[in-house]
Amino acid sequence: MAQEPKRKHSKTRKRVRRAAISLAGVNLVKCPHCGKPTLSHQVCRSCGYFAGKQVKENTEVKVVKA
Ligand SMILES: [Zn+2]
Repeated sequence: MAQEPKRKHSKTRKRVRRAAISLAGVNLVKCPHCGKPTLSHQVCRSCGYFAGKQVKENTEVKVVKA
């Protein structure tokens, strides 16, 4: 039998937890190709390189949340 939570977490507790996740922000790393900050394990938005190869062209995407 699986363990069951003894008590329900309140809406506030859930919201406080998720707000803290949002406040922590995204983890940015420096792109090894162009040096701009980019999301790790993802294609660089400014140069389109990933793992040393050009994967996409003309990736001038507007960053909504800087
Ligand atoms: Zn780049």
